[in-house]
Amino acid sequence: MNNYTDIKKPIFIWDQVKNTQKSNKFNYLQTYIRNFTKLFYGGIMKAIETFNERKEELLEVLFDLLRIPSITKNTSDVKKAANWLIERLRKTADYTEKIDTKGNPVVIAEWKAQQAQQEPQEELTLLIYGHYDVQPPEPLDKWLSPPFEPEIRDGRIYARGVGDNKGQFFAHLAAIEILHERKELPINVKMILDGEEELGSVNIEEALMKKKEFFEGIDLVIVSDGPADPSWKPTLEFGVRGITTVRLELISADGDVHSGNFGGIQPNPVWDLIFILATMKDDTGKCLIKGFYDDVFTPDEPAVEAANKLNRTEEQYSKQLGINYFGGEQDQPLTHRVMFRPTFNIRGIQSGGVKSEAKTIVPSSAVVEIDVRLVPNQEPDKVNQLINNHLEELKKRSDRWNKVIERLTVSYEASFYPLYTPLGLKWTSILEKALKEGFEEEPVKQPIAGGSLPLYPLYKLTGKPFYVIPFANPDEDNHAPNENLMVSWFEKGVKTSIHIITELGKS
Ligand SMILES: [Zn+2]
Repeated sequence: MNNYTDIKKPIFIWDQVKNTQKSNKFNYLQTYIRNFTKLFYGGIMKAIETFNERKEELLEVLFDLLRIPSITKNTSDVKKAANWLIERLRKTADYTEKIDTKGNPVVIAEWKAQQAQQEPQEELTLLIYGHYDVQPPEPLDKWLSPPFEPEIRDGRIYARGVGDNKGQFFAHLAAIEILHERKELPINVKMILDGEEELGSVNIEEALMKKKEFFEGIDLVIVSDGPADPSWKPTLEFGVRGITTVRLELISADGDVHSGNFGGIQPNPVWDLIFILATMKDDTGKCLIKGFYDDVFTPDEPAVEAANKLNRTEEQYSKQLGINYFGGEQDQPLTHRVMFRPTFNIRGIQSGGVKSEAKTIVPSSAVVEIDVRLVPNQEPDKVNQLINNHLEELKKRSDRWNKVIERLTVSYEASFYPLYTPLGLKWTSILEKALKEGFEEEPVKQPIAGGSLPLYPLYKLTGKPFYVIPFANPDEDNHAPNENLMVSWFEKGVKTSIHIITELGKS
């Protein structure tokens, strides 16, 4: 049934009877009647009804996709998943394409708006990002059911990739398909499905550059990935921290030696690495690298307010993590430490042997890896340069320091920029409302999620506001055995997406 023709009638009659010239006021009234009628006689409620009728069938389709083990490095299975997606998208989309890259393909699709919006306003274009590659499932013996044979137990779908990220983008796809089938898609919707997110989307920029015109005219970008806020409330995220990773490897001698025979002569690289690390951070949690905090943004009032409202307490964190003292910058509130402030974290250190591998030696090498979580407006390359500058400065301390640093190998791994959309834009209230309707619960606003997403190239190319709206339960166990998505959360995701798309059509 096409609601549009139904609701046009009374407006037409009204027009005849009153013989009114179209004034702004009249336009407003027309829009009001149309929206009012749609709300009660069709639109969102009918679309949700359609979803409820088709739920089982849509879950079966999702299960088909979950059965393809598209682990990022299994290129043939990833291709199979890409082809599966193209076939599915073709059923409804006006345009689909599989863009080949040096790595895995990127799949794109576009649906044109089916209903005229209030002229002369142009139709909005929403871009939805998702990824169809998945993490390896190991250790297999920890899974209660095989990772690529999806099954529902206790209201949860268990499968590798169901939360991260197939089930989440599929919720959007289901919403689009339903609105499209009902000829009620009020805005243009574009979708981009990445095949390499789990390895840092290293080739996405190549795909974006090949298809620049596809990314023109976009108004906002939505990503549904990661778990919702630990409070289990529906979550609207406005940004993510960035990351850069550095490895410091110190090889100070040709080989390990007897700690008695050569102890006191051969330099110990563990001690020297500790000396280096101690120049980088103090015991109040402050990073001592010159310029490290120079670009760190100051969150505005709405962001601070939203962070405070998350109401995360010391007690909660202590209980959740089993801790009785805290890391990070001691002079910063806890919530700020996890979203507004950068970290300088040692993620691992290795040298010699302990416990069953203990030997009385002077080890010849030591390695430490540091990950730095970046906040707006820090840039990974700039932070890497600051670390290099710091090490150069250390050389000046003495001839010995100079020689230690000379033998140090410094390497940087792939990095991601931080992303941040201010909370004051008009989209905030629309998305908040959609989440509230879809989840039937007041959402929380998380100004910046602690983790990172490799989406800066997409942000740079579109230049548009970016929102993360997770549809996965907080205990989805992504990247771990028994990854799951609650069926009810999937349903709420579909409903939220229907609300988002419909509400955007009214904006
Ligand atoms: Zn992931």
